[in-house]
Amino acid sequence: RLTVFGLMTLFVVYYLQDGIVGFVRGVFAKKGIAARKPLPVTTVADNVWAGSAGNVEIGTNLLSAKQLLMQFGGLKALNQVDLNIVKGSVHGLIGPNGSGKSTMMNVLTGIYKPTAGVVEFNGRVISGTTPSAIALGGVARTFQNVQLFGEMTATENVLVGLHHTFRSNVLDVMLNTRRYREEEQAARVRAASILQFVGLSDLAGEEARNLPYGKQRLLEIGRALGLNPELLLLDEPAAGLTAPDIVELIAIIHKIRDHGITIILIEHHMDVVMTISDTVTVLDFGQKIAEGKPAAVQADPAVIEAYLGGNVSDEEVAHAPTTSTPLTSSEAGA
Ligand code: ADP
Ligand code: MG
Repeated sequence: RLTVFGLMTLFVVYYLQDGIVGFVRGVFAKKGIAARKPLPVTTVADNVWAGSAGNVEIGTNLLSAKQLLMQFGGLKALNQVDLNIVKGSVHGLIGPNGSGKSTMMNVLTGIYKPTAGVVEFNGRVISGTTPSAIALGGVARTFQNVQLFGEMTATENVLVGLHHTFRSNVLDVMLNTRRYREEEQAARVRAASILQFVGLSDLAGEEARNLPYGKQRLLEIGRALGLNPELLLLDEPAAGLTAPDIVELIAIIHKIRDHGITIILIEHHMDVVMTISDTVTVLDFGQKIAEGKPAAVQADPAVIEAYLGGNVSDEEVAHAPTTSTPLTSSEAGA
């Protein structure tokens, strides 16, 4: 009996890789392919996905964090930090390694529940709610280490970000109902427009793991844009990029801001933060040590001390705020 089951398992693994339902659907899909029109990818306007484009009142607080404390055992990764993010701005968040930047990101997006303090978004308290509720409320993010679905295509990765636009249930999907087909079609049009926005139209059908690293980072931004966010958090988007990639990234960040999306930017490359940001906040050992316009922060003795004083690594010295020389490709790849 075991031998028979073994052979059956092998048969399924070799010949029915999508399972029985997948196999049956594949047979039907082949018949339907000719009838389906190609997607109008090239005719999609840039702003199909951006509902709030243009008309934001600038100057009010979109997000405010009050007295945030995040404790891991005895370590205070964030220690009584206040943070106010002005609507429509690009807000830089910098600090030496381990200063609490990513922790801040994780607290703002609900991945960590702060030990104390509150986070308000659009006047509503969001700390303590779930990451998915926060995301659906309009806060999207990318990760310090790229987190894509490697074996899915660029388009499919963006479709994951558009998951919230689907109302179809499991039955709709199994029966391939009209509602599901229409939603799928609409989502694909939107995904194509997002890929065009981040400059990845040519690579839409490519598996994410095969994309060059710089393009993977852009794809992650694209997937985040699928949420149609009001606030976008970028955790070191330029890390590991080459100089031309960084130029492209900066242009895309500008375009996103021009669509009325507020941005929090964590970045190690000082040139990038200082050119794009309207306001910069500096963390050191979990505490806010400076905040203000980029030029003022760059000249702040406490900031220079945090980067250059004490035991710092060579990498941190290379990235210290005083380094205002243009990026070289070797530095960009660091
Ligand atoms: P940054 O992004 O500024 O480099 P992090 O926010 O990743 O720094 O880390 C800040 C501090 O918090 C570090 O000392 C780190 O080791 C610690 N930390 C971060 N996340 C955790 C965790 N989940 N558990 C324990 N310690 C953590
Ligand atoms: Mg980090």
